Amino acid sequence: MNKEWHFETQAIKSTQNQMTGIRPVNMPIYLSTTFIRNEDGSYNNNFIYSRHGNPNRQILENSVARLEKGEVCYAFSSGMAAIHAIFQSLKAGDHIILPDDVYYNVYMLVSQVFTRWGLEFTRVDMTDINEITNAIQSNTALIWVESPSNPQLKITDIKKVAELARSNHALLLVDNTWPSPVLQQPIELGADIVIHSATKYFGGHSDVLGGCIVLKEKNDTARRIGQIQSLSGGVPSPFDCWLVARGIQTLHLRIMAQTRTAAKLASYLVGHSMIEKVNYPGLESHPQHLIAAKQMRNGYGAMLSVLVRGDRETAMKVANKLNLFTTATSLGGVESLVEHRKSVEGPDSPTPDNLLRISVGLENADDLVADWEQALG
Ligand SMILES: *Cc1c(COP(=O)(O)O)cnc(C)c1O
Repeated sequence: MNKEWHFETQAIKSTQNQMTGIRPVNMPIYLSTTFIRNEDGSYNNNFIYSRHGNPNRQILENSVARLEKGEVCYAFSSGMAAIHAIFQSLKAGDHIILPDDVYYNVYMLVSQVFTRWGLEFTRVDMTDINEITNAIQSNTALIWVESPSNPQLKITDIKKVAELARSNHALLLVDNTWPSPVLQQPIELGADIVIHSATKYFGGHSDVLGGCIVLKEKNDTARRIGQIQSLSGGVPSPFDCWLVARGIQTLHLRIMAQTRTAAKLASYLVGHSMIEKVNYPGLESHPQHLIAAKQMRNGYGAMLSVLVRGDRETAMKVANKLNLFTTATSLGGVESLVEHRKSVEGPDSPTPDNLLRISVGLENADDLVADWEQALG
């Protein structure tokens, strides 16, 4: 620092990073978009410019790759940005098999945007291996699985679909947002790619958007996705990465507690005369309960949906009578939410009119059950 410099120069130089050799226990936030080049032209840790790479993003990516048992992870600014990169990594003329109840915006993105870029798709019932087999074409490049699915909590046999994908030279992708790696690790079941909306359980507090792509191997597909991440720039901010990484520190505790409460709520609702049906893979009455028991561990998740006895209006009325379940979209936060899903997905959606989707939070389980009791009473 030179004392002769003028005020403006001092203002700049005195506030640049001067802290070397500090060893913070937890991760600082590296907002700097650019990094100092060494005299020989190299960069420490290969951090050059934050669109290409940033310490906060690197820590998040390493963490999620490890938790999902993959070789490499790429983080994005939202789940949909990650999903967009997946489709961009395919080529015109490729065919995708999607679940008929795939996360609604994935269907919208493929059908509204990527068909114009030459991608083809077929929607199937992912619980029916024959239907998936019949949908395979010579140009099928990717099979997309969401298990449990949204919002009907259908379960797909990941191992079986993985075998089918492998024998047809297609990639198997699993959207693991709902179970999280605490309850399900698709790469161990044979998936090639795992994606996450980190907005949900990873973040865990409904205050950050994020997305991740984990790949089993650092192969050509991985390199292509890495290239798309850095060239198209849909990257998360350092603060977003910090928030998601902070959420991951309590992921296991939150998922375990929320899952226990959801199981309790599901078994309460199953016996209620105002409830026509409860969709929860932990119930023995669930049509794919045994598959869920085989491929999930630690429980069956903190998401469920119910069909209220009655029509759309009855379901809406029940949602509005709940005090501890906020009527809002999204899921995976510490607060419980309830949503009339069909009105979010629009008139074309296959979701029943009387379905309410429930995201169970960290409130006391007895309080949450009592809340449903009064709302249905
Ligand atoms: C929310 C969600 C997405 C999309 O993620 P965003 O972070 O909202 O872009 C994708 N898949 C599933 C299963 C989701 O719940």
